[in-house]
Order: sequence, then structure tokens, then C-alpha cells
Amino acid sequence: MRPIYMDHHATTPVDQRVLEAMLPYFTEEFGNASSIDHEYGSRADEAVQQARSQVARLIRAKPEEIIFTSGATESNNLAILGVAEALADKGRHIITAATEHPAILDPCLYLERHGWQITRLPVDRFGLVDLDALQRAIRPDTVLISIMTANNEIGTIAPIKAIGEIAREHGVLFHTDATQAAGYLPLDVQELHVDLLSLSGHKMYGPKGIGALYVRRFKRSLRLEAQIRGGGHERGLRSGTLNVPGIVGLGKAAEIASREMRQESERLRRLRDRLWEGLRARVPGIEINGHPTQRLPHNLNIYLPGVNNRALLVALKHELAFATGSACATTKVEPSHVILALGYPEERAKSSIRLGLGRSNTEQEIDRAVDSLAGAVEELTHKLRI
Ligand SMILES: *Cc1c(COP(=O)(O)O)cnc(C)c1O
Repeated sequence: MRPIYMDHHATTPVDQRVLEAMLPYFTEEFGNASSIDHEYGSRADEAVQQARSQVARLIRAKPEEIIFTSGATESNNLAILGVAEALADKGRHIITAATEHPAILDPCLYLERHGWQITRLPVDRFGLVDLDALQRAIRPDTVLISIMTANNEIGTIAPIKAIGEIAREHGVLFHTDATQAAGYLPLDVQELHVDLLSLSGHKMYGPKGIGALYVRRFKRSLRLEAQIRGGGHERGLRSGTLNVPGIVGLGKAAEIASREMRQESERLRRLRDRLWEGLRARVPGIEINGHPTQRLPHNLNIYLPGVNNRALLVALKHELAFATGSACATTKVEPSHVILALGYPEERAKSSIRLGLGRSNTEQEIDRAVDSLAGAVEELTHKLRI
């Protein structure tokens, strides 16, 4: 038997229905979506248009506001660098948060090396930025605020609507990395006052290597600076022959999520709470990292006092697949920058794990995971005492 998979924040499997929707576009329907002068191309183009609508519907955007990319990393780069370069004459100050994904923090670091100023807002114990601090950080030369919708490690959900309102009041663009929230929480870019939003296929049961950036269409024209130049695809914002099978897969994944999110998120929340209650009853001193209630329904990030998370990973290698930080930084074995940003010492970061539930997980698996984790924790802490 393979280990139980509880690392859905790192990636999810492709849904069978998504795979089936994609398959024809590898073979018979292989046309280039730009070659609309003939049937092959126009059929591919139609499939792309349908997917654009499906993705738009998931976040209540208009189809023409969706730019297909290779994933959320590229979407984030396009948002940050595209706005920074487009508005460089207006100002060179960007506000973000300390707990963002590396795909936000790294482009910001790059800009900083090239003369931009970056404010990285601190967060409280729960992972929330302070809205007054955000207001105070806005300057006349601020061009962009980028705050993630939900954190990929601790699951904390940011008050996106309030942040969007602040950004709008000050005439500053607002980008949110919604990669972990899309498909799990209802999102409405109008209601939330979001100008740019990133999402990724493989975090919502679509394929890897495909994502999208929502770019609001303004009356006054804001033209992001493209980061990949060429034939002018995707409104000139992202050149390159469209990944038609990937796009069809992302569209189908978005359609399924739009339809099933409510029920599935509720199911995941119940499973997650069962997991937490089970662990809390059996692991002394266990604590939640992140917000107790304002969190993703399928996320549980826990502190296991006295347990080295790497040792736990090894001990449970055949039983349970989970994460000790974020997959995006696993080449480094540094303690999680997110747990540290909550104000905890390194010791806590090294004794914390992330459990991410998903469609395949069952109640039986939750109970087995509780047994495995509690047993391994007991063994590891017992060894430590001897
Ligand atoms: C996974 C993830 C990304 C990167 O997405 P890719 O599509 O793998 O490039 C960016 N931001 C967040 C919050 C993520 O969870």
C-alpha cells in the first residue's frame, strides 16, 4: 500500500474528468489555436475560448481578462514585474507581506536590486497583516500591493476585500496570489476589488505547467509590461503557442471546482477537524500554526513539541506523505520563513508539519493518519527522553 497522500498544497492529482477532457487535444485536436484560418486551428481556438470562460466563471471575471500562463509562478512574475515596469515612471514602491510565496518574494528581491523599494509587512501570530499598518505603508510612489489570498503553509485567509478597498481608495493596484484559494473558496474579483489574481492548474486537480493571471480591464489603459515577448498571444502579455491540452484541463478543473466547491470544501473541513481532534487527544502539547478559524478548509499546520519534523517524515515515509515546510523550498532545508514570520523561534519551525487534505482522502484515512502520527510522535519523543 502506498502512503496516504496529505500534501495537497504541494500538488493535486489530475481529476479523471479533466484528463478525459484533455486527451483529444494531444492527438486529433492538435491544432494551433492561433491558426484560425483552418478547421484544426479554429477547433483548438474554440476549446481555448471555452476554457477561458470556465476559468473566468470561477473568479467572476470576464473571459477576456484571463491570461493563460505556465503556472502561478509565472503569473506572479508577470503581475509583479509587469506592473513595476509599466508604472516605473509613476513610482517604484511595492507593498507585500513577509509570508508570501517565493514566487512573489523573489521577483520583489530582484526589483529591489534594480532600484525599487519593497515594504514587506509583518504578520501577527495568526499570519494576518495589520490593515492600519498597510494604510500607513502606502506612499505617493506606491504602485502595487500584493497579498496572497490564502497562505500555502499555514492556510490563513487574508481579509482580501478590506485590502482591496484600501488599495482602491489610494489608487494603488492590488494583486493577490490565490493559488491555494482558487477552487476551495468562492472568489469574486469584483466584490473583492482585486485587479490582478494568480492561480494554478495543479493545485486544483488540473495539470501541472498551466495557470492563469486575471488582469482587470481598466477604462484608462493599464498595459502590463510583457515578460515573455514574441507573437503577441494573450493580448500581447504572454507570447508563445498556447498549451491547448493544458488550457482545456485548467478550464475543466475550474468548471468542476465551480460546481463542487461548496460541498467538497465542507467535506474537507469536517475531515480536517476530525484530524485535528484526533491528534489533539493523543499528542501532548500539540498546537495549531496559523489562524484557528480563518483558514483554508483543507489545511492543518501543527506544532509537535520536541519532534524534529524531518525525523517524523522519515519515520512515516511508508505511511503518510506530508510536508515540513513548503515544497517550493524543499531544496533548502531551512526552517519555514512563514512559521518564523509568525514570531516563533526556529525550534517551532523545525517541529511543525503541514497536512493538506484533498478529494481522495477518506474518514478511514484520517483515522489511520492520526494513529500513524500519534504513534510516531510517541516513539520519537520517547527515544528523546532515554
Ligand atoms: C504552488 C504555489 C505557487 C506556484 O505555482 P506553480 O503553478 O507551481 O508555479 C505560487 N503561489 C502559491 C501560493 C502556491 O501555493
